[in-house]
Amino acid sequence: MTLKFPSAAEAAGRTLGDEEVAAAERVIRSGMLNAVWGTEAKALEREMAELCGARHAVACSSGTAALHLAVVAAAPDPGDEIITTPLTDFGTVAPILSQNAVPVFADVDPLSGNLDPAAVRAAITPRTRAIMAVHLFGAPAALDELRAIADEHGLMLIEDCAQAWLGELPDGRPVGGVGEVGCFSLQQWKHITCGDGGLVVTDDDALARAMRLFSDKGWDRAGGRHHLSFGLNYRMTELQAAVARVQLARLPGVVAARRRWALRLLRELAGLPGLVLPDPRGHAWWYFPIVLPGGGATELAAKLAADGIPAQAGYLAEPLNRAPLWDGPMYGTSRFPLSAPPAACPEADRLVGETLLIVDLNENYTADHVAAIADGFRRYVQISGIDPS
Ligand SMILES: *Cc1c(COP(=O)(O)O)cnc(C)c1O
Repeated sequence: MTLKFPSAAEAAGRTLGDEEVAAAERVIRSGMLNAVWGTEAKALEREMAELCGARHAVACSSGTAALHLAVVAAAPDPGDEIITTPLTDFGTVAPILSQNAVPVFADVDPLSGNLDPAAVRAAITPRTRAIMAVHLFGAPAALDELRAIADEHGLMLIEDCAQAWLGELPDGRPVGGVGEVGCFSLQQWKHITCGDGGLVVTDDDALARAMRLFSDKGWDRAGGRHHLSFGLNYRMTELQAAVARVQLARLPGVVAARRRWALRLLRELAGLPGLVLPDPRGHAWWYFPIVLPGGGATELAAKLAADGIPAQAGYLAEPLNRAPLWDGPMYGTSRFPLSAPPAACPEADRLVGETLLIVDLNENYTADHVAAIADGFRRYVQISGIDPS
């Protein structure tokens, strides 16, 4: 089979056009490429805040930087704990370590792969400061339950929306606004991109100020060269911001197209034995995840991939609580702030090792792409007779 699938590594799989070229040119010709003195990043922040219905948006250099700003807003003391999921990009976890806090991994729901609220509740200790929820593959996490747990224990709720641009709760509320801080990524493989870039949104004036200061060396730029708090340089450039503004305007169309293709694929795959299809409510469709409760995801993904279908098993080489880094030092020879290896998360292990298969989803698919994916599944799922338990 020779049908080529659009990839996010190529123009065919990105929604980038003349407007982005013009935006980058506009910045270069202006002579001002830095956001401190430019206008593009400030405009992007206004447009993002408006899109999210948030009081503030802060632009920064990556999704990881955005999550670092959120951890700064949570203000853990060294050694405090932040509960998160082992099924995520390392960009969720690195900022916790960077602030000398301890990532505590809670297990996930066996179907959605999102944090299991009961596991989060069980992981809370007197040192817990925040919960970082990830909307995995674009499916909304159990935000109402997590919000209730956070409120009960006086914890901050951070939403990692890197994979969930325009994701919604089942009742239609947008993701990113239930937590005190919502974080977004503009990295190459996300719904929209400027190569690398990040955005945080919040309604809290004090948190917005703390995050903005951290992103610019603790310098408030209001008067004099005073450094008011510890910070790094996490600034977005004007080039990134100008491109991101165009991408943000395209976002509703990108997500609508992905939703159309995903719903079509859901219809095509409905009823195939042994597959649990994703819940479409509020889904932003970064990937199209399928769970095989009886196992066999690795074998099935390999057969589909051999036929040219963009499928892969597991998402990660191992859940992040099993990453090799926990065995070594963190800074120099010190393991601070870690004292014990991360706890086991058996549902995450099972998803990554046996049951989770993800298929690329792209706004530039055609009906032929969806049909080819569905044909592939029909071919192998029925031949191999995957146990429909
Ligand atoms: C991509 C991603 C990140 C990190 O974003 P970068 O822009 O690559 O730094 C964090 N969390 C999740 C869930 C992601 O998908």
